[in-house]
Amino acid sequence: PWLQVLDALEKKVNRLSYDTWLKPTRFSHSQGNKIFVRVPTPEFRHIGEKYGDLIQEALDSLGLGFEDVEFVTDQAPAEAPMRHDGGFPPQSAAAPAPARVQQARFDWDGAAQLNPKYIFDNFVTGPGNQFAHAASRAVADRPSKTYNPLFLYGGVGMGKTHLMQAIGHTIKRNNPEHSICYVSSEKFTNDMINSVRYDKMTSFRERYRTVDVLLIDDIQFIARKERTQEEFFHTFNALHEQQKQLVIASDRPPKELAEIEDRLRSRFEWGLIADIQPPDLETKVAILQKKAESERTQLPTDVALFIASNIRSNVRELEGALIRLVAYSSLTGGELNLMTAQQVLKNIIDQQTRKVTIESIQKACAEQFGLRIAEIKAKNNSRAIVYPRQIAMYLAKHLTEASLPEIGRQFGGKHHTTVLHSVDKIDEARKSDKDLNRLLNKLTESLSG
Ligand code: ADP
Ligand code: MG
Repeated sequence: PWLQVLDALEKKVNRLSYDTWLKPTRFSHSQGNKIFVRVPTPEFRHIGEKYGDLIQEALDSLGLGFEDVEFVTDQAPAEAPMRHDGGFPPQSAAAPAPARVQQARFDWDGAAQLNPKYIFDNFVTGPGNQFAHAASRAVADRPSKTYNPLFLYGGVGMGKTHLMQAIGHTIKRNNPEHSICYVSSEKFTNDMINSVRYDKMTSFRERYRTVDVLLIDDIQFIARKERTQEEFFHTFNALHEQQKQLVIASDRPPKELAEIEDRLRSRFEWGLIADIQPPDLETKVAILQKKAESERTQLPTDVALFIASNIRSNVRELEGALIRLVAYSSLTGGELNLMTAQQVLKNIIDQQTRKVTIESIQKACAEQFGLRIAEIKAKNNSRAIVYPRQIAMYLAKHLTEASLPEIGRQFGGKHHTTVLHSVDKIDEARKSDKDLNRLLNKLTESLSG
């Protein structure tokens, strides 16, 4: 019934407001004369205030007896129980019920996983991603003829998934007969587990080893999963031998994938490794403008600059800020100007400034252990200092977005493997050392509080 309401509203509400506020809503379930509608964030409850009359009107004209709508956010446990076909009671245990398993098999269509928005045309290049972009283009234009595998790495929200899928779209467009598989390493893992469980390993292997292009995302998640690594190793070899294109994305370079077996890691280095660095200010502004353009919104330059200079580095957050702003001004009918931006984004920006920095960690650890900050940062390796320093590096790894090499730099030029070693050591120690655990919790709390 909600779909019908939406249809009615679509004709009466302007397109931008409709796309912003109504399109993202989903029917959840109904109870009595009430419809429950799922919305992405609590801000959407304003829908009721703004469109209440129109919704009422639509409900009335439906004549199905629904009188009220309640909006629930995704966090609420509002998932309706699945309805059984034709209202029959659930099948008894004696009835054959392999439908699920079968379906999982026919669901296979790796390319269907591609997001239509993630194309090269929508990707803004700048100094931080130029190299990765160029490499991706090369692979997309001449699959299996340039770099194989292409290994992309970079922090969260830097555009790895976007680039990888853009490769998929381009290859598909140029070679419609190619089968393209985009899969996260988590999905690969789950697929494998299910296949083992239902005795379908043969079809699992056939599926993954016969694609023309395998795009595997967030490979870091196969760390410590030996069986998955083994399987992926063979998938990799089979595809590579047949000269099928592989693209791998990761949050860190192969050599930092410490818990992935060497033979896999070394294969990741066979082709080309391209990193993506956070965008600079100009690139951020350009991304915002591109995004606004695709939303058909006017984004004044000063507003774009304001967002870009206040949101640190993550492109996803950048987009989130813009969407929020656009939604706000379309809902209130207000103009999208600097003042609105400052107001609306205040929370997001405050949160950012509360983010923990390496300096603040060094300061807190120095205080905790009665040392000077310079001692924590220096090269001195006396025992009284090594331990606090390891703790500080551990916290830096967990509380900031700094990479291992960056942390190393800020601690007197340590090699990133030294940093990794410290992080692992503290990680291990905290499992059994209650005092250490408490200390870490305390420091974490005071730093991010
Ligand atoms: P990652 O996989 O590295 O975490 P994503 O590819 O998911 O990051 O990107 C996060 C969001 O930011 C996506 O919506 C993506 O379209 C957008 N994005 C990232 N980089 C760019 C860019 N250079 N130009 C345009 N959009 C970008
Ligand atoms: Mg991603």
